[in-house]
Amino acid sequence: MTTDAATAGPMAADTAGAELHPGGATSPEAHGSAPHSDPAVEALRQQILDRLIYDVGGTPKRASPRDWFVALALAVRDRVVDRWRAANAETQQRGDKSVCYMSLEFLVGRLLADSLGNMGLRDTARDALAALGVDLGEILEEEPDAALGNGGLGRLAACFMESMASIGVPAYGYGIRYENGLFRQVITDGTQHELPEDWLQLGNPWEFERANLVYHVGFGGHVVAENGALVWRPGETVRAIAYDTPAVGWQGHRVNTLRLWSARASDPLRLDAFNHGDHLGAQADRMKAEAISRVLYPGDETAAGQELRLRQEYFFASASLQDILRRHLSQYDGVANLPEKVAVQLNDTHPAIAVSELMRLLIDRHGLEWDEAWRITRGCFSYTNHTLMPEALESWAVPLMERLLPRNMQIIYLINAAHLDAVRQMGGDDALLRSVSLIDEGNGRRVRMGHLAFVGSHHVNGVSALHTGLMRDTVFADLNRVCPNRIVNKTNGITFRRWLLRANPALTSLLVDTLGEGVQSDPELLQGLVRFADDAGFRDRFAAQRRTAKERLSHVIADRLGLAVNPAAMFDVQVKRIHEYKRQLLNILQTVALYNDMRAQPTRDWAPRVKIFAGKAAASYHEAKLIIRLAHDVARVVNNDPSLRGQLKVAFLPNYNVSLAEVIMPAADLSEQISTAGLEASGTGNMKLALNGALTIGTLDGANVEIRERVGDENIFIFGLTAAEVASQKRDGWDPRAVVAASPALSQVLDAVANGVFSPEEPGRYRGLVDRLLNHDNFLVTADFDSYCRKQEEVSARWHQPDRWWRSAVLNTANVAWFSSDRTIREYAEEIWNVAPR
Ligand SMILES: *Cc1c(COP(=O)(O)O)cnc(C)c1O
Repeated sequence: MTTDAATAGPMAADTAGAELHPGGATSPEAHGSAPHSDPAVEALRQQILDRLIYDVGGTPKRASPRDWFVALALAVRDRVVDRWRAANAETQQRGDKSVCYMSLEFLVGRLLADSLGNMGLRDTARDALAALGVDLGEILEEEPDAALGNGGLGRLAACFMESMASIGVPAYGYGIRYENGLFRQVITDGTQHELPEDWLQLGNPWEFERANLVYHVGFGGHVVAENGALVWRPGETVRAIAYDTPAVGWQGHRVNTLRLWSARASDPLRLDAFNHGDHLGAQADRMKAEAISRVLYPGDETAAGQELRLRQEYFFASASLQDILRRHLSQYDGVANLPEKVAVQLNDTHPAIAVSELMRLLIDRHGLEWDEAWRITRGCFSYTNHTLMPEALESWAVPLMERLLPRNMQIIYLINAAHLDAVRQMGGDDALLRSVSLIDEGNGRRVRMGHLAFVGSHHVNGVSALHTGLMRDTVFADLNRVCPNRIVNKTNGITFRRWLLRANPALTSLLVDTLGEGVQSDPELLQGLVRFADDAGFRDRFAAQRRTAKERLSHVIADRLGLAVNPAAMFDVQVKRIHEYKRQLLNILQTVALYNDMRAQPTRDWAPRVKIFAGKAAASYHEAKLIIRLAHDVARVVNNDPSLRGQLKVAFLPNYNVSLAEVIMPAADLSEQISTAGLEASGTGNMKLALNGALTIGTLDGANVEIRERVGDENIFIFGLTAAEVASQKRDGWDPRAVVAASPALSQVLDAVANGVFSPEEPGRYRGLVDRLLNHDNFLVTADFDSYCRKQEEVSARWHQPDRWWRSAVLNTANVAWFSSDRTIREYAEEIWNVAPR
């Protein structure tokens, strides 16, 4: 049984905004009067009341759940701020090196439960609110989900912020404060629609606007020679204003800063001078400036050369670097020791323009010579690569760069010249020079941002062992040759505080009962579970907590989809962005094959399954949206076929985000990690699911490889072509039609889909999709289909042997401690940043 507040369902509709007390369970006189006997509870109760009255401007009698949320968040924030000030003062006083984590995305999710948990205030807050007649669980549901990211890359940045604070690495996260984060996904008739997510509409109690922390960021204009020096005269200037959010570590150990920039139009007087009183024109300039922090760029793996995106990248890179230099110079006499005091991590290439921007600031503003500026720049930066897919490797057209960032473009040319000189001196031939150049001279001249980040960094890392190996062997092979030993591996991780302790309180309490309180602070203690894997009593308790989580998810499915599912069935889960390389299509086609089999052999003893999908498709990604539609069409047919007797259900949960993930992860039995081998750099959803005891069915891709090494071959279901086999099959050429012809099951499935069995109202809806598979099948769905289906039969067979299933589940939880982002951060700290955790 869990009474944990995070598990509470959505607010009862009739209490929202009501004039009555919102908790609904307590008598009105409970509000604000009677002191609580526990002094800690009483102190917090009083603080919440003060915040409600003096900051929210409410009264206990009339306060809405939202008001209580803000009052509690502010009360908690007060305590966080005390630690924050102390941590910053100490770092400064000791002169400790700190990390600046630059990321265009931070997929933070909700913060209240996190802050309460890490500050050890959960029970105190629950009791203090109860004394006010308010239920903590309902209050937690009031917080909007901060979705300043698309998926894994942004979530990684959020996990890293939490881990850096938890293990005591002084850090600033730098990003953009998007007014509208990732869109809200609404599905009507199987079709995805994107609605703006207005997470700031009712204010954000966590952030501090730093009105005095303002930097100017220029765009356009010209570079002119003045007194022998080159001076950039921008045509336009935008102001960057800082908003700070505290990032609280485990047990309040340390509090770091997430500093997000908001764009404002520059001095209106200058605007007037430019516009001669042209009010509409002046307005248009303002809109243009402020558009920079209006929306998160929605595409996460497809390149689209949009000027606004480049403006966003430069805006946040420049503001962050100006801030780093200002902070440094407030403490030291010069910038020479910057690399000893600051490590700047570039999360993907989105901030790569920072390399030339730091050079520009050091040379043009701080008067350094080129060589010294380059020493400092290379000493500060390191770069994380997240994808090797050619269409996702960022590059910018040279004419756009010249127009928007003329001085940076000059500096990039100079960096490139020095870099190519060095390669020439090593005896590099023309082919090598072309391949390692920062400028791609083919198909229009473009600046390769990955190359810029690579050349400007002292270390470059991949995010899983496999991916790092592929970096060395493929996309970065030539750069690796001319800059040997620069590429290192840092396998991703997740914060166990959010993804186990908070998301899965039922399992956590079993773990604490079994292994002691220490397991919450030290995940390596999970190893102690290994000896319980053969203990039937323990396995039953493990399965029982899973049942709790599955019932909770069943309620969510019923609420949101009106679909009844059996919590005793296997919950077979694929939740992640919808992308062809992630191969949700493979899963859906296997669902159809299973459906065909079940109808053909209705009396066989099938393992009952619920196929659960969730994920957003980029707004302009037609193929991905069609896959969402197919999932819905298949769900409609399968869910309404009485001949299956409920043995198979398909649920697509809309609007996947961090909060929904927190409900799904603990309830999953089977984790689908089935990307085309070589294309998923790491994955982190795979780690969240394995930690919570789901068994993985997956390809040897990304971190799946390392999960297998740790949980053991018999506790994971691996199928399909390896990355090397994918590469050679693509190189040698292959015929998907022959593969399909050789597979009766696949032929039957594709015929049904192509002929409109699942879309009778529009029989040709999936003709194109099936044709693409037959003619190209770029992601090798057909090639892996039979192997996948066979492995799924093994999964079903295991489900029929609960002893074996739960043994494997326990061994998954027991053996994945290594995927804690604390471990990842320790590796970065030691091998890349040279920062000592305190
Ligand atoms: C963990 C997470 C992801 C990343 O999932 P992958 O399966 O690794 O792609 C994406 N979105 C959300 C909301 C997450 O919590």
